[in-house]
Amino acid sequence: MARRKRLPPGPCTYCLKHCDELEREHVFPKSWYPDSTPPNAWKWWVPSCPECNDKYQKVEDELLVRFASGIGPYGGFRTVYKRVIQSVRSEFARDRKDARKREEKRQRLLREIDALDKMTDLPPRSILNLGSAKLSAHRLWVPGKLLNRLTEKLVRGMTYVLADGLLIDSRYEITKFLLRPEDAVPIIRIVERYGKKDFREGAIKVGRAAAFDDMQTALYVFDLWDGKFFIYATVMRKDIDPVLRNEILCLVPAE
Ligand SMILES: [Zn+2]
Repeated sequence: MARRKRLPPGPCTYCLKHCDELEREHVFPKSWYPDSTPPNAWKWWVPSCPECNDKYQKVEDELLVRFASGIGPYGGFRTVYKRVIQSVRSEFARDRKDARKREEKRQRLLREIDALDKMTDLPPRSILNLGSAKLSAHRLWVPGKLLNRLTEKLVRGMTYVLADGLLIDSRYEITKFLLRPEDAVPIIRIVERYGKKDFREGAIKVGRAAAFDDMQTALYVFDLWDGKFFIYATVMRKDIDPVLRNEILCLVPAE
């Protein structure tokens, strides 16, 4: 692994612990950007402790292989797709150890596909095709637990980026919502009207609308790969008045 750039000591954006050896951590991994992303575009990074950096890398690798089929082998994201497929093919390995790791991953995914193929009552939107030529007719879960961890990370990271280094402290909780686009209209309207947006052309769009009286309370919209995946999230105080909490969540229809 390439040597990571060290940053001055301070709190980790994700776990908030003080760390003497902070590293740059990309909120969206570099491999998630298509080749069309301009080379001079800042690929948002934040200070992170080495533990969070490693932990999230595993989550992201595991999710990207599952997102791959939705991305597809054609169009602007084919390089992202190609990287994923290569990550499970031993012929692209750097050395024998790496080849073994890639083959193990492929076998693990194939076992998962086998198990899924035997299940008949799966909700269809939880399923994605893996999409390599060999595995094309098959499908993989996107585990909710991993998506929760990714959402937590994206929210913390993009809060830091969009709100001038703001950290979300332990009084707050982050909740993820997966919605059909038509159900997300109220959230999108709020973010469009009151929020701050940023994007990397053709790759990732992020919208954040914060409460007027509390910078940490916010609604989030993440649009990955030009509408291939949407993640919505709220950041609210854990001790918020339950009535108010429900009023806010009424904006966010049930999953
Ligand atoms: Zn950390």
